[in-house]
Order: sequence, then structure tokens, then C-alpha cells
Amino acid sequence: MEEARHVPHHPQKIALIFSAMRHFAEALKQRGTQVHYVTLDDPQNTGSVPSELRRWQSLIKPDELHITDCGDWRLEQSLRICGLAIHWHSDSRFLCTRAEFADWAAEKKQLRMEFFYREMRRKSGLLLNGDGTPVGGAWNFDADNRKQLPKGARPPSPARFTPDVITADVLALVAEHFSGHYGTLDTFDYPVTHADAQALWEYFLDWGLAAFGDYQDAMATDEPFLFHARISAALNIGLLDVRKLCSDVEAAYWSGGIALNAAEGFIRQLIGWREYVRGVYWLKMPDYATGNALGNTRSLPEFYWTGETKMNCMHQAISQSLEHAYAHHIQRLMVTGNFALLAGIAPPQICEWYLAIYMDAFDWVELPNTLGMVMHADGGYLGSKPYCASGQYIKRMSDYCKGCAYKVSESTTEDACPFNALYWHFLMRHDELLRGNQRMGMVYKNLDRMADTKQRALWQRGEMLLARLDAGGSL
Ligand code: SF4
Repeated sequence: MEEARHVPHHPQKIALIFSAMRHFAEALKQRGTQVHYVTLDDPQNTGSVPSELRRWQSLIKPDELHITDCGDWRLEQSLRICGLAIHWHSDSRFLCTRAEFADWAAEKKQLRMEFFYREMRRKSGLLLNGDGTPVGGAWNFDADNRKQLPKGARPPSPARFTPDVITADVLALVAEHFSGHYGTLDTFDYPVTHADAQALWEYFLDWGLAAFGDYQDAMATDEPFLFHARISAALNIGLLDVRKLCSDVEAAYWSGGIALNAAEGFIRQLIGWREYVRGVYWLKMPDYATGNALGNTRSLPEFYWTGETKMNCMHQAISQSLEHAYAHHIQRLMVTGNFALLAGIAPPQICEWYLAIYMDAFDWVELPNTLGMVMHADGGYLGSKPYCASGQYIKRMSDYCKGCAYKVSESTTEDACPFNALYWHFLMRHDELLRGNQRMGMVYKNLDRMADTKQRALWQRGEMLLARLDAGGSL
């Protein structure tokens, strides 16, 4: 109960974890392993992992207690001080151990994901020529992965997994105990066993992967999944193995089934970014969680929990998140994250939202991605510049603006896209901190070229929009 309630997790995420645990317990029993599985509503259940371990320690008096590294600093700390002698094991869901990452990071002033990723490519041997050079002559083909979705493009229908009896029981339990949490349970269709997660993966290999690279940054109205694999939650809870996923993608490339930018882009997400953010998390916690380099204090607007906003991009990204506990990386970074950055939302509040709302979000992955990448609250440790953008970026990468009450072509009128004025307001109010950043030079040149009257009008509209948020209004 403590793990399910420390933030208001999406009910589908709680259901996924409980159902996957129950299926795994059953699988172990069938293999002849003795399992003691404590259900949430067991009257003996004391409600927290450390207290349950102490209870079972005295009940069954085991010779030894073995635990895998946790995904959450808070939980691991509570276990390390709970008074039990624990044998700790490194987490096989990752290729790079915490100690290996710490060795790589030692004495580096800034940790660049790109260099870490190259190390991981060399270590894993993925997409390498015989002489150790990268296939295709470059390590990274991200520039090829930002195409707009062509008109009439048809993404595959999402693979769905009908709840079995165990999952149906869990869904009822979650409905009973977590009805106050945001998000619906009604659309739960996620795999809860290794076999079903494997089926989801194979579906992606057949129908999604070839187009994944080109369109991984694209967004489309009422298309929550596009060509994305949707396997991150299954991977993060251990239903899939990162080595197998990478070798399958590499094999698809070698067989000629997919282009290099699709294969490299997918593998980089897994052995580059995913391992890197986890390494940073364990290297920098607990201080990392308190970062607030931009001094943000604004409360998270209520519409993050309801989707009730006239901004169509925000409405689409938030509504699908509440419906599926899922949004892809650009919706998270450049729509909901971009808005939180521009509006100056207090980092703990936006971090809690991401941790609560997404099925794949655990502290090790959510915190660096939100606090560092989205909010630039770590002062640039993770990303060398803030990922801020006006409505023009969203217009380029989606069809959201066509169905929006605001005009993306306007900046200062009453019906102007809020992202536009908030973008310039963000740059003006953080001028002192960001102007010296080499990667921000061009945007500040554009600001300097702007007439004073235009700058003042943008500032005033930005102030008005922020005041509306402070008064508890929506946009
Ligand atoms: Fe979003 Fe602005 Fe486009 Fe509306 S006009 S969808 S608020 S980017």
C-alpha cells in the first residue's frame, strides 16, 4: 500500500504491477518454488515493504535474505536501515551496473550521454563493424528520426491483451482501493506476463519498427501510439530483457528488414538513454531530487489531472495519458514538459505528476527525465540546454494546431497560442542565466533583433497567461 500510494499512481499502473506479480508468483509455484505472496487486502499485511520483510523474517526465519537493487532511492534507503541483514544483488534489467557507471563518470565535469552511449555500443558489440567502428560510419542517426507524419499514414492498430481471471481480480481490487487516483481502469489492455509482453514485442517488430525511426517524434490527433513499441512498462518491471530486445532489432537491421536510423534510434534509447539516466540517478541521489536551478515556484495547473484545457496539444497529450497511462517521449518532453518548463512549474509538482501518471514511470527513470531533461532544474547536468520551444515546433511535428482554439501563427492576441508568448517570456525572465549558454546563442540573437514594442507585448501576454494560471484558471 505504501508503494501504491506514495504518489497517486495511475490505477492501470497499480493494476499492471499487482497482476504481473500475481502471475509471476503462480509461475514460480508451478515450477515447484515455495512462494508466500501477500495480497494488498490481506488483513495481516502491514502495508510497507520493510515492515513486511520484518514480519516474514520472524515468521519463517530464513537463513538468508536476498534482494535486488531497488528502482527507487526512497525504498532502498528504507530497506538499508530496516535492521535486517540483506544480501544485495545488482539489477539484471540493466547492462551497466551502478559501480560501472560511477567508474565511467569519475572525474568528468559533465556527463555526456553520447559518449556513454558509444561506450555501451563498444561493450555490447551492437551495430559495430568487425574493426569496432560503428555501422554506417556514425554513432548516431537521430537527425533522420524527426520526420513529419505523411498525410494518410496509417499506424498499426495497437495490440491488445484481454484481462484474464487474475487480472480481472486485480482490476476489481484496484477499483475498490484507488478510486481517488486520476486515470481510468476501463481501457486496461496491457500484457502482464512475459509471454504476452513478448507477443507485444513481436507485434512491434512486425508492424512498428520499420517506421519507428522516421516518425518517432511525430504526434497525431487521436493516435496515442503511432509506431511506438509501448514496451517500456514491460521492460521496466522485468517482463522483457533488454539484451534480447536489442539483439532482435539488430537482427532486423542485418536481415535488411529495417533502415539503420530505425535500428540505431531504438538501440540508443535502450542502451544509451535508459542506462544513462539510471546511472545519473544513482550517482546523484538524494541531492538530485532537490534541484531547482530556475527557481520555479508555480503550482501545477489542475488541468494536468483532467485534460480540461483549450490548448489542443495539451488536451490530447493529457487525455491519452489519463486513458492509457501512456504518452510517447515527444509528447512528454515537448508538449506537457515544455509547457511546465515555460510556465515555471515547481519541479517537485511536475515530477510527481510524471511519476504518478505513466505506467512505465519509476523514480530512477522519471526523476532525471523530468527534473533534468524537461525542467533543466539540475542546472544543465543532464542536458546542455533547456528543451524550450514555441508553438511552431508542435505545429511542425503534429496536426494538433489545426483543431485548436488558439492560433499558432499569433503570439500576442487574445487567441494567440500560449506556447508562443510563454516561450519568449521564459527566455526574457531567464536572460541572465541562459544567455551565456552557447547553444542558446541563436535564440537570444532572435530576441535581440525583435522590436521593443513586440518584446513588451510578448512579456505582457506572458504575464497575463501566468497570472491566469496563478488564479487557478485554465488556458
Ligand atoms: Fe498547442 Fe498552440 Fe498548437 Fe494550440 S496552437 S495545439 S496550444 S501549439
